[in-house]
Amino acid sequence: MTDCIFCKIIAGQIPSTIVYRDTQVVAFKDIQPLAPVHILIIPVEHIVSLTDITEKQAGLIGHMVVVANRLAKEQGIAQKGYRVVFNAGKDGGQVVQHLHMHLLGGRELSGRLG
Ligand code: AMP
Ligand code: ZN
Repeated sequence: MTDCIFCKIIAGQIPSTIVYRDTQVVAFKDIQPLAPVHILIIPVEHIVSLTDITEKQAGLIGHMVVVANRLAKEQGIAQKGYRVVFNAGKDGGQVVQHLHMHLLGGRELSGRLG
């Protein structure tokens, strides 16, 4: 996707602070962090939304969770706790149309989701 901001981050065409990368996913710091730790974990493949996920991509979603756990440990938030969030579609608050998992932590997060 040539006009996708996250595909450009993967390709190194837009600067970002990448904290993890493998063949399936890339993780980088959110540009407008909502918590002391706010990392986005995205698939290398351009998938628009959680809505597009079927059984075929179940392994990818599992891998994203494993990477989130690993990053939570690395960032020192695993013990106190953290939150992972997928926003899907307009009502779900999805702004960027490339699937992403938010990893949030480093402060006590509100019990309410929105
Ligand atoms: P969402 O509302 O779930 O679509 O979240 C999109 C997230 O992408 C927001 O938290 C933005 O701050 C973040 N974001 C947008 N552009 C960039 C960028 N160039 N680098 C890092 N994060 C970004
Ligand atoms: Zn993309």
